[in-house]
Amino acid sequence: MHKAPFVAALVLVLTACSGTEAAPTTTAAELTPLPPATTQVTTPTTTSTTTTIVPVPLGVPADPDPPAPAPEPKLLDGFTGRGVVTIAAGGAELYDDIGGEPFVVAREGLVFAAETMQDDWIQVFTSCDATAWVRASRVLAQPPAASGEIGAGFDFGNATIVIDPGHGGPWNTGAASPSGLVEKTINLDIARRVVDLLRVPHSVDWNTGEILVGDEVPAAGWVLITRVGDAETGDYEAGLTFRSELANAANADAMVAIHNNAGWEVRLDHPGSDVYYQSQIVESRRFARIMVQELLRSFSSFAADWVGANVAGAKSRLSPHEGNPQYYGILRRSEMPTVITEGAYIANQSEADLLATADFRQAYATAVYRALIRFLTTDDTGTASDSDPEIWNGDAGSGDARPQCVIPEQDQ
Ligand SMILES: [Zn+2]
Repeated sequence: MHKAPFVAALVLVLTACSGTEAAPTTTAAELTPLPPATTQVTTPTTTSTTTTIVPVPLGVPADPDPPAPAPEPKLLDGFTGRGVVTIAAGGAELYDDIGGEPFVVAREGLVFAAETMQDDWIQVFTSCDATAWVRASRVLAQPPAASGEIGAGFDFGNATIVIDPGHGGPWNTGAASPSGLVEKTINLDIARRVVDLLRVPHSVDWNTGEILVGDEVPAAGWVLITRVGDAETGDYEAGLTFRSELANAANADAMVAIHNNAGWEVRLDHPGSDVYYQSQIVESRRFARIMVQELLRSFSSFAADWVGANVAGAKSRLSPHEGNPQYYGILRRSEMPTVITEGAYIANQSEADLLATADFRQAYATAVYRALIRFLTTDDTGTASDSDPEIWNGDAGSGDARPQCVIPEQDQ
């Protein structure tokens, strides 16, 4: 292959994807390697009965469900300033200073991280990576989730999960296919499908991976998405610091950043799904291994001219700067097990053709859903290939919101 196009493609993905910034001087915790994979997919034990239950499979929705209606304003018990606020129905004015002039009427349904409270005002960290004040009477304010011990015995019904559709807004479109399909749109669609799956109970056929109508897996307790809205209204800029801060403020149990890739190195006879883990949070590597396994299972029934990296699977990139913190900002800043899924190569037209179909996007979403269940409620180590963290000398840009970033406004 001629070299120039590859270099160009590589630059595209590095500037398109999750991003770093000048590395802080924090010391990366030592990575404790996981034991070799010995566990297959955990199958829930069932007792044989005389009744035969015929599972009903779910269909593939053409589109994700519409976003939930905006809530009424309320301070939930236990909220003292830290947590998550959702802008209430009708929108809410945001202020730089308490008692000053509002600079925007934020759209109903948007979620921000809550930092502190002063009288009837809550200081929030917005999608534009900036602090602002909002009246407590204009939001639903929720305290951080109670901490739970993930692994075998963890109740999925108590899980707090943040789903992060990568990129967004007019400036940060992410990677693109030759035909012009852009990552921000596809990522949001997949993320919304994951949210839809998480918000209602299901059963899972762990032999086939099929998601069924049923109630063996309860709805997750609290599900947040970092870009709120439909394909149109959810297309706004959101800084990487904000995305992590929202998950931290919710005290989430797990976070998944949904992406699709560019800059492939080799042709493959199978999907080149990569999942990035955090080296400083030991459980993140287990999460990534399970995620890769579930993505490959979901994609195995699809045909494409697959491409990938020379080293594929669960992997981790470290900044070359002092202390070698995580290269990707969202993995560096999030305080809970977080992974970045690069499910398919959108820059490869053959895979972009799949990403353009609801079938494939739903398959991607069901993989993320199954991986979350396995990661949070079992001690599975996953069987996908993984590799130790490597120093990465790329330049993905800061990932911070631009000074021109705008918060979506309430329709007047
Ligand atoms: Zn991306």
